[in-house]
Amino acid sequence: MEQMMKSIYIEGKEVELQEEFPVRFACMEHFDQELDEYVNDYEVAPDTYAAQAVEAEAVNKRCRACGEPGKIVLLREKGL
Ligand SMILES: [Zn+2]
Repeated sequence: MEQMMKSIYIEGKEVELQEEFPVRFACMEHFDQELDEYVNDYEVAPDTYAAQAVEAEAVNKRCRACGEPGKIVLLREKGL
């Protein structure tokens, strides 16, 4: 799924996000495809983390491509 968020909790720490870029999840099968699409859509390389490091409340972690549980999150952090 794709969500626009101000910040997200990763490993218990609040990470501020660049709000103009979405938070997307991908399963292992679609990770390469989602990485390519993020770069194509936004002309930036996303930061990536294991989906299990992201706190689940209010976040839909399903793969954007197939709807299976996502394993990797793609996002853009502020200040990097
Ligand atoms: Zn998938």
